[in-house]
Amino acid sequence: MHQRSGANVRPSKIVIIVHGGAGDWPSKLHKQGLSGVGVAADRGFRIVSKEGSALDAVEAAIVMMENNPVFNAGRGSTLNLVGEIETDAAIMDGKTLKGGGVALLRDIRNPIKAARIVMDKTDHVLLAGEAARKLALANGLAKSNLRLSKRVHAWKEGLRKLKKNGVLYLSGTSPEVLQRFLLKSSDTVGALALDNDGNLAAACSTGGVSLKLPGRIGDSAILGAGLYADNESGAATATGIGEQTMRLVISKAACDLMRHADAVSATTRIIRYSTMAVGVGTGLIALDRFGRHSVAHNTRNLCWAARTVDVSTAKMFGTRVS
Ligand code: ASP
Repeated sequence: MHQRSGANVRPSKIVIIVHGGAGDWPSKLHKQGLSGVGVAADRGFRIVSKEGSALDAVEAAIVMMENNPVFNAGRGSTLNLVGEIETDAAIMDGKTLKGGGVALLRDIRNPIKAARIVMDKTDHVLLAGEAARKLALANGLAKSNLRLSKRVHAWKEGLRKLKKNGVLYLSGTSPEVLQRFLLKSSDTVGALALDNDGNLAAACSTGGVSLKLPGRIGDSAILGAGLYADNESGAATATGIGEQTMRLVISKAACDLMRHADAVSATTRIIRYSTMAVGVGTGLIALDRFGRHSVAHNTRNLCWAARTVDVSTAKMFGTRVS
């Protein structure tokens, strides 16, 4: 059997990079968004700087953002077409290639913790709906009302606009209309880390795209699409319109490129291809096995923060690629 040698893994430093979504961040929310990603990056960085694992760091960073109502994840998740919350999340370990995902959770306070339970305590990779909820509760996870009045307001406003555009739901509308609606709430969260042992990890969590059909599962629950991590190449996590991301299996594609390219050129190439193949609506953060990180998007904004031993950054955009 093929053994993953890890022989070519030579990390230069510990790193964490997180994002808070590639949506149309209105300027009045920039401060809150940047502070939210900054605090999450700090939290994760503290873990890797004390010899903790990349896996624990990305989970902790995501928990911080799930608990922060500015983001569309955990508390503050966006609402689907019928006004319900259905969250998705996943986590992946670059050392073992193990991963866990959950989809369609309604009231679990921290979906990322449920994803970690799927990874650590089951033989499966993805659980959805009531069964995933029961597993989370049986393992002691807390329930919470994730619904915020600002999201209810946005939902009502979205329904009104749909009606005005003469459509019942988003499928079948023009790509422009689709993007205008979906990118309103793309404040999904993601995190990537490299630890002292050279291990990479990735995690992400979301309420999904607003006004989605009930039962819709997005890229953030799915290894390869919403996230991927492999010690022998790199780690990546995506944000934006999940339907685009899933069609391109974008995070795995980025990791494959990072076998021979650095994070910057991998993300730039993938986003350029994504724009050409499926249109505007995607953002991607990546971390290669040498600790070089990158942020690329074809959306207006991508809220992100990174911490290394010597640099601390938080920005509302990365490299805009058309
Ligand atoms: N990618 C997420 C989804 O489609 C949404 C987002 O990134 O904001 O569910």
